[in-house]
Amino acid sequence: MTPDFASPRLKVGRGDLRRRNRWLLLHLIQTHGPSSQAGLARRSGLSPATVSAILQPLIENRTLVEEGKAQSGIGRKASILAFNPRSILIAGVSIEQEECEVALVDLSARVLDHVTAEYPRYTEPREVADLAVARIRAMLRSNRIDSRALAGIGVAIPGLVDSDSGLVCVATNLGWRNVQLRALFEQKTQLPASVEHLGRAKARAQAVWGQGAGHRNFVCLEIGSGIGAGVVADGRILIGAGAFAGEVGHTVLDPSGPRCACGLDGCWETFCASPAIRRRIGEHLASDAGTGSTLTPGSSVAELGRAAGQGDPVARRVVAETARHLARGLVNVIWNFDPEVVILSGSVVRNCPSLIEATQAGLAKLEAARSFNVPLVAASHESDASVIAASAVVSFRRVEELANG
Ligand SMILES: [Zn+2]
Repeated sequence: MTPDFASPRLKVGRGDLRRRNRWLLLHLIQTHGPSSQAGLARRSGLSPATVSAILQPLIENRTLVEEGKAQSGIGRKASILAFNPRSILIAGVSIEQEECEVALVDLSARVLDHVTAEYPRYTEPREVADLAVARIRAMLRSNRIDSRALAGIGVAIPGLVDSDSGLVCVATNLGWRNVQLRALFEQKTQLPASVEHLGRAKARAQAVWGQGAGHRNFVCLEIGSGIGAGVVADGRILIGAGAFAGEVGHTVLDPSGPRCACGLDGCWETFCASPAIRRRIGEHLASDAGTGSTLTPGSSVAELGRAAGQGDPVARRVVAETARHLARGLVNVIWNFDPEVVILSGSVVRNCPSLIEATQAGLAKLEAARSFNVPLVAASHESDASVIAASAVVSFRRVEELANG
């Protein structure tokens, strides 16, 4: 059974049942995508007449719009109903070490536009927020969407976050500490905002719209400038007493390994996050001089991924070594959380997809992992996965508001 992360906070009192049914239908369009009224009746168990009565006002006020006709069936083809992206949109902002991704997302997690803005490492939070808001406004203008359609901003960040207050307690790789990030976005836009831990946000989004659907136990591992995870155990996202749960990048793989930003030596992310992979490229080039590799000591993970795909021998060795470290760390994760599946996500996986297969092979070779047989899969919507995840909390809230009328 899929975990229910979107339990509605509906007003109680007269009209209760109608509100709940309205939420149910909107939630189905949100989680399953555009649908005919007949399809919604089937999924919800409500009668076609009830579905029609509930949806008609939402069609009249242009919250829902027709988006094509159903392909199959007999008789008159049914209209497919979708959320109107010109009426309600959420901005998803995923903040990384040296760039943020910004997107306009509709209430069914469909991305209308998506841009990336780069900045130097350790840029101040206020400047990053300014940049993200400027990009959101530019996207609304270029898509000719009225700014009043923007219903809120969801922000995801790799760091320790108190989601209730929107406070970023510490984001080591960004150099941020005690930043009231939600307040920063709300002050700039006068719109509701949410701030989430990237790994947890992604786990929630994958549970609803991606590879986590149908699983009550899974780990969504984010590999980028660091390593973090969203852990779903027995259908619930683990948060922990101090909101640290899922910071698996700081489990020690080798105490004689490189110093980590957290102060420990040899954390998992010092072997497998993007700075470690770039360091490894340099080391292999130095020891493999004259092999004719297309890589250079300054090559990015994306260049590594391309070179590995073209059979570059140095690139393949770097991928194989990184996969061995990933597999060893994954054994810890699997022992700790006993997942049905591990979803791999983040810029490293996106730029070097061959790492997934190599890591699965590496896992199969480890004695300790033989009994697990846990599949590793790439996150759904990979290029948009972070911005969809960032937008999700605000998106669910907006649907509750629509249901409350
Ligand atoms: Zn560490």
